[in-house]
Amino acid sequence: MNIEPSRRLAGLPPYPFAEIDKKKKAAIAQGKDVISLGVGDPDLPTPAHIVAAAREAVADPKKHHYPFEAGTIQFREAVAGFYSRRFGVSLDPQSEVRATLGSKDGLAHCHFAFVNPGDAVLVPDPGYPVYGTGTRFADGEPVLLPLTREKSFLPDLDAVPATVLSRARLLFVNSPNNPTAAVADAAFFEKAIRLAKKYGFIIAHDAAYSEIYFDRPPISFLSVPGAKDVGVEFHSCSKTYNMTGWRIGWFCGNAEIVGTLGRLKDNFDSGVFEAIQAAGVAALAGPQDCVAESRSVYRERRDVLVGGLKRLGWSLDVPQASFYVWVRNPPGYTSAAAVERLIEEAAIVAVPGSGFGRHGEGYLRFALTVPKDRIEAALERLVKIRW
Ligand SMILES: *Cc1c(COP(=O)(O)O)cnc(C)c1O
Repeated sequence: MNIEPSRRLAGLPPYPFAEIDKKKKAAIAQGKDVISLGVGDPDLPTPAHIVAAAREAVADPKKHHYPFEAGTIQFREAVAGFYSRRFGVSLDPQSEVRATLGSKDGLAHCHFAFVNPGDAVLVPDPGYPVYGTGTRFADGEPVLLPLTREKSFLPDLDAVPATVLSRARLLFVNSPNNPTAAVADAAFFEKAIRLAKKYGFIIAHDAAYSEIYFDRPPISFLSVPGAKDVGVEFHSCSKTYNMTGWRIGWFCGNAEIVGTLGRLKDNFDSGVFEAIQAAGVAALAGPQDCVAESRSVYRERRDVLVGGLKRLGWSLDVPQASFYVWVRNPPGYTSAAAVERLIEEAAIVAVPGSGFGRHGEGYLRFALTVPKDRIEAALERLVKIRW
């Protein structure tokens, strides 16, 4: 039998990082000591008090059943408490918060809840791939909003024609941003909210990196007046508490949006394992010094990498948040060609900006998810490459 993928699946662009993955595996197979500054997955462990809470919860037979889909009230209250303390945002845990299997779950599925075939979805480019792939699965039309250095890597909403805004159903924003590390301020969100009200689209804000910052804490989109009228924020324990493998996140904001997306999710999954939600409660409601410690680790790594790259003549802006460094290509190279030389000649893995969309061309992304001595080793290897 000939197994044909669905038209929608077949229509997706090829997985952008497959080629690098192949080269990385080849380098490892050759016995090379590969330094991976590629994937954005924290190398630091989940803090011990969170693991302990999970261990206890796993042993409780009451938690072995199908969870209540919206999430346990304890988890939703923990999210509301976190939002109140950290952002000054008040959330009703009953109607304005819902647990997800990581924020990717919510981000990838929300198109099915709100997008009809042919609707426009405003997607930052470069950006996290699920905003666009989710749009395609729902037969929507991704409209790319270029993130450029001239516009501080924020979408230029004034440049979007009214004809596009009026058929838009969703606007995705991601601050602090992957891959550019840009941070949006209140003025940006105020403009987005004004347009959303005028043209009737939903703002979907991805705040996965809100706690990974080096100076001023980034704001929540929901702290901006009017946000809760038009939007929803996706968040997660993954980056804040080094919990990428646990799959626990949430979305929160406008009660109707939360309810509608929740109704969709009722049809896809049966909620998050309650022991994992207990770990989420321990994370969000527990001591936060572990997060400050992670920040200082990333800061030290950032300073080493940024300082080293600048000494070597690379062109970049110092990231104020996220654990990424977004760097201009060496002149004369596409981002894919530069990444290829890095792997082949220095056994260093970086991600080509073009993998995040065509407006990412011209840049490379380095992740700060390896120890400082590995970053120092990478810099020593970089010295030897003649571009
Ligand atoms: C890592 C990341 C997330 C978080 O994904 P989870 O599903 O919560 O693990 C969300 N958005 C962006 C842009 C990310 O890089």
